[in-house]
Amino acid sequence: MKVLLIDFDGKLPNLALLKLSTWYKQQDDEVFLNECGYPDKVYISTLFRWNRTKVEKLLQVYPGADIGGTGWNKKKKLLPEIEACKPDYDLYKVSDILPRIRGGIATKASKIAKAETIVNAGIGFTSRGCIRDCGFCDIPEKEGDFHQVGNIGDLLNPRSNVLILLDNNFTADPDVIEKLHEIRDRGLVVDITQGIDVRLVTPEIAQALSEVKHLRSLHYSWDLMSFERQVLDGIKTLSGSVKLWKHLCMMLTGYNTTFDEDLYRFRKLRELHIDPYVMPYNLTYPTEKHHHFARWVNGRIYKSCSFAEYEPWVKAQNDLQMSLF
Ligand code: SF4
Repeated sequence: MKVLLIDFDGKLPNLALLKLSTWYKQQDDEVFLNECGYPDKVYISTLFRWNRTKVEKLLQVYPGADIGGTGWNKKKKLLPEIEACKPDYDLYKVSDILPRIRGGIATKASKIAKAETIVNAGIGFTSRGCIRDCGFCDIPEKEGDFHQVGNIGDLLNPRSNVLILLDNNFTADPDVIEKLHEIRDRGLVVDITQGIDVRLVTPEIAQALSEVKHLRSLHYSWDLMSFERQVLDGIKTLSGSVKLWKHLCMMLTGYNTTFDEDLYRFRKLRELHIDPYVMPYNLTYPTEKHHHFARWVNGRIYKSCSFAEYEPWVKAQNDLQMSLF
């Protein structure tokens, strides 16, 4: 049987498809990623809601396709016997990941190196779910309460010492310190992709985080104004062990904060010498102001001009005024 697995969004190999690939190869089926003539079985996974129309078009080509992923059905799960499979690390090639590393000022060589790192990394969860129930987040509905699902050792890719950890709230894990020690002792380089919940960082967790090698910055978020005290206390605790230049703070905008509150959080983080990164809520329809603010912050254009002077935003306002006359 020919099995076609389709993944067209996200920057990382799709874990569900990696496991499906292992499962079908164990049944002696042929597995293809994204391209295959006349497949007998098709799976499509989409992470983002704004890609639903692409899935609908694919459904016209493959009407019997099995569709999953947060962007389509938050409740859909793999069968237990497939979930239990290890990822098939042969499914993705560098050429599958490279086109997804877009933009920025990185050279082609460094983008290829990044794609190689991703393809050769181990990937997966040691825990799923969360202890919180943030209204803007899909995790509580998709993954439920916090629960353990695996071990660090089960996630490793023999091709490298890089581990892409997908745990939804790693610092909520009662075993977080032991897991960080295991990562340190195995000499792994970890990417905690979902960030940490900085409000839960204790001096001991901060110390353990400082003892592991991180693939990139250590990120966390300050989403709502009501979290200010807890987030700032957590940052203070974390920075007792992890240098500030290694921090990155995501800021949710357009959910229930005003633009003044977005600017306030941005300024507060910059006062602390922390890099902010704006994540507009519901990326399908960010307002023009949110869009420009995100570009201004995430492109670090704030280092050369104020938001009021940011040319694309100034132009957008002028265009709007012109259109009113
Ligand atoms: S803490 Fe993070 S993962 Fe948990 S519900 Fe809130 S946003 Fe989602």
